[in-house]
Parts: sequence; C-alpha cells; structure tokens
Amino acid sequence: MRRTKIVATVGPATSSPAGLRGLLEAGVDVVRLNAAHGDMATHAANAQEVRAAAREIGRMVGVLVDLPGPKMRTGVVRDDAVELQSGQPFVLAADAAAVGDEHHVGTTVTGLSQWVRTGDDVFLADGAIVLRVVSTDGADVITEVVRGGTLRTRKGMNLPRAEAHVEPFTERDAAALEMALAIKADFVGLSFVREPGDVERVRAMLPRRGARPSLIPKIETASALDNLAGIVSAADGVMVARGDLGIQVPARRVPLLQKEIIRYCNMAGRPVITATQMMESMTRAPLPTRAEVNDVANAVLDGTDALMLSEETAVGLFPSDTVRMMAEVAEAAEAWPRLRHDPTATPGLDADQVAWAVAHAAVQAAEDLAVAAILCPTRSGQTARRVAAFRPSMPIAGISPQPEVLGPLCLVWGVRPLAVPDTPDPDHQLRVAVQAARAAGLAHDGDLVALVFGAAGPRAGSTDSVRIVRA
Ligand code: ATP
Ligand code: MG
Repeated sequence: MRRTKIVATVGPATSSPAGLRGLLEAGVDVVRLNAAHGDMATHAANAQEVRAAAREIGRMVGVLVDLPGPKMRTGVVRDDAVELQSGQPFVLAADAAAVGDEHHVGTTVTGLSQWVRTGDDVFLADGAIVLRVVSTDGADVITEVVRGGTLRTRKGMNLPRAEAHVEPFTERDAAALEMALAIKADFVGLSFVREPGDVERVRAMLPRRGARPSLIPKIETASALDNLAGIVSAADGVMVARGDLGIQVPARRVPLLQKEIIRYCNMAGRPVITATQMMESMTRAPLPTRAEVNDVANAVLDGTDALMLSEETAVGLFPSDTVRMMAEVAEAAEAWPRLRHDPTATPGLDADQVAWAVAHAAVQAAEDLAVAAILCPTRSGQTARRVAAFRPSMPIAGISPQPEVLGPLCLVWGVRPLAVPDTPDPDHQLRVAVQAARAAGLAHDGDLVALVFGAAGPRAGSTDSVRIVRA
C-alpha cells in the first residue's frame, strides 16, 4: 500500500471524463486545476467529474485549485507554440492581448518597460528560454533571445526586478477563488507568495462558515524562503515549486532547500508537495529517465507527503502511465527501512503539546504492538496529520462524517480518509471507526488497532487518549 500521495495537473491531455477516470484509476489522490490556464467553466466541470468518478470507485480524491496570483506570464501565442531562435530580436509587447509569434508576445504585467533595465535577463517557462533586455524605449521591451526554445501560451516569466510592481490579487484570482469555493475545492494553491500576509489575505476572503479550503502557498520566491516559518504557520500545507524557485535562487541550491522545507513541514505537521519536472521526460516518452526515477524516490526519502505532476498529465502523451510509474517508484522508495521518523526529533511546532504527545504515544504503542492500523476519529483532521508526522509503518485512517474534513487528508502522507455515519455517542463513534476500518480492509477479525481520540468526544484540538482494541 503506497503512503506517498500523488497530485496530477489536469490539462488538454486529461480534461475529459475518460482522461480524469484514467488518472484516478492509476492512483491519483489529488487533482490539480491550474486557474492560470483554461477557463473556469471547464475547471468546474472537471471537478464535478472527479467527484463523481471518485464516488464510483469508492475512494476520496481531493481537488486543488491553483490561483495564478502575482506570477508574471507571457500571453497567448499563435497555435499555442512558437519557436524562438537564439540571437534573434524578440519584443515583450505592451499590448497584453497581442497574439504572440516568433517576433513578439504580450505579458500580464502592465507598464513592464518601466520596471526593467537594459541587460536584465528574462526567464520564460521555468527558465527554458532566456531573453536579455536590449532597450526599453517606449512601452515595449526589446530583447534578444539568449537561449531559444518553444514558447507556449501563458508561460511563466521570471524577472525579479519587476516583481514588486505586480498586483497581488487580480480579477482572474477572484474568479478562480469564486470557482474554487463553488466546487468546494479541498485545497487552494497560492502562487508567488512572499510573506505570511499573502496567505492571510486570501484566508480573510474565505467564507466564515461552512467548508473552507486548505491554503497551500507555493514556495517559489527568494522572499518566501526568508519568511518560511511564518508562511508555514499561516498555511495548511506548502508546495515546493521547484520551477521558479530554481530561477530565483541558483538551481543547485534547490535540492538542499527541498530537504529543509520538507523537514520543516514534517516537524510542523503540515503536508508538503514536491513539484515540477518530476517525470518531465514522460510528457513525450513512455519511460522516465533514471535521473527522474531517482528524483522521485529521493523526494520520498526526504519525507515529502505528496509528489506532483504538471506537464506530464496536463499536456503529456502518457498521463496515466506516468501516474502509475510515479506510484511504483514511490512505493519502492517507501520500503527503505530508515524512512521512519527520527525518534530523537520530535515534531510539534504548534502549541497543542498534549495532542502532539498523545499522537507520539499512539505511534509508539502501535509500533510496539505491530497493530494493523492507527484510527483517528477527528473533527478537524489535525489528529491524523499529527500521527502522520511520526511516519508510522502501519496505515493511518482519518475518520469523519464530514467530507470537508476528509478532503484535505487526501494530501497527507499515509492517511486514508474514511467517511462514517454521524453519531453523537463517543463510545459509538469508536465502534463506528473500527467498523469503517474493517470495511476498508485496513483491519481484519482479531487484529489489534490503535484509536487516537479526545476522550470527551472527538472535539477539535482535544486529543488526549489512545486505546488499543481488537477489531
Ligand atoms: P505553475 O507555475 O502554476 O506550475 P505552469 O504554467 O507551469 O504554471 P502547470 O500547471 O505546471 O503550469 O502545467 C504545465 C503546462 O501544461 C502549462 O504551462 C500549460 O502549457 C499546460 N496546461 C496546464 N493546465 C492547462 C489547462 N487547463 N489548459 C491548457 N493548458 C494547460
Ligand atoms: Mg508548472
């Protein structure tokens, strides 16, 4: 049973009932809809389709809507792909709506020419293409192509000098957030976050009551690295977005940053996604490179909760094969005996020390007794996240009657979200939890299981008990 979760981005290659079903059957845990691309109606339809398909196969699948945020992008290009040749002039046009070609393209930044200087490098498409600014006379920015390549529609544009002048929350963000709330997205991804305030601003826009999505800032700017602790505590999880990160800081620093961010999130009990180019070559080829297999395995060994696919499933030729391959590689890596949490490093960066200690005790007892599963009846999902932080060797079940509690657990390492009928009686809740675990095949007749819960009834934040019972 695989413990690491898989997030897959939907795009033209998978934006159909059959495409989405293919992803789910291959093992995807969270489907990502990138609101920087496509239209909101298509994203909403895909979300409904994912919900329906998940119900059919009897498994929870989460939906993540990624907000474009203040990420700078180039505009539309003719036929969705143009070739830029090294040494040729290329214009970043002031007209945002211009249809781009080999000679020019619009951008999402108003007044770009005021913010750049001659000699600046402009990185497009996660740095695959590099332009150098030659002149900024007038409204257009004239560049020379330093490293050519294929430019597609709405590609990321990295130009640190202009960053501070980009609006943090645009109309497109508002439309995407509205769509995310309408489809009851489990997660909202936040692009180009620089400080905790960027997360708090979006949180303040969420409805006061009812289902509220988990906020997942993408760590992809140099400032986000400086403010990591604050961002992690303001967030419900983070994404290590290696594409832009590897431009904002030298790419050679990204492997170590990945380890540090993951470790920090593990300690805080916050899920972390490792993203970008994980199996990039499978966009066009039926097999990954050895380097990609190693990268995926190493992210698992670093302790990532989830692995993400972008181009591979959005525009790739082998979307479901890529998911299956990623799943196999992850599961093989999990067999490493030293994957278990270092017992001398105790997680728990938040204030609820009792809940952390109880989670720790539960995992200790579960390992000593080699129980079949650790069952966490939970009102907020926190208990399951805390137990998962200790990376126990047996399955963890996050158990709740509420879909909005279960959805976010789709991203958490080793946690299987299980829906149960609502019942007010605390003892009955525990019996219902054990039944659900048996029905899901996590425990069989006579197996020991560990229950972690709040004795006064599983009230949020009051985890204080461990009980070992026979299923
Ligand atoms: P981000 O920085 O948010 O990852 P991105 O442009 O790299 O932005 P991805 O979500 O990583 O986007 O997807 C990779 C590529 O797949 C995109 O650049 C785009 O070309 C294509 N793509 C993704 N989603 C869609 C979509 N809904 N419609 C059309 N193309 C899409
Ligand atoms: Mg990307």
